[in-house]
Amino acid sequence: MSAGTVTDEELLARADAVAARAYAPYSRFHVGCAVLARDGRVIEGVNVENAAYPLGVCAERTAFSRAVAEGYRPGDFAVAAVTASPCGGCRQWLLEMGVERVVFRNGGRVVTMTPNELLPESFEASDLP
Ligand SMILES: [Zn+2]
Repeated sequence: MSAGTVTDEELLARADAVAARAYAPYSRFHVGCAVLARDGRVIEGVNVENAAYPLGVCAERTAFSRAVAEGYRPGDFAVAAVTASPCGGCRQWLLEMGVERVVFRNGGRVVTMTPNELLPESFEASDLP
């Protein structure tokens, strides 16, 4: 199965569906993320909150952490779909993971941007000594 078999709309629908499984008892703001790997597989994530609020993890990061634990690496991903606009920290993750584009909902619109558009003038691996 190639990465072209899942459309951006279908991927966003997967993110919408998985958002129902978010663990967000504090904010009640459920977020879903569906990442399309280049091998055609879709890896999903949700936000996971904690009573110690700053320890909560975003849907994008749970999706990519799950993917990495299963053997995927930066560059193995084509598209990430998110039910909300990615936060600043997740923009850094999206850049590191090397997705081609990010599709997300923002104020009733569906927006598609590249990681570099989401995080211009970024700090990345090549900046390290
Ligand atoms: Zn985030």
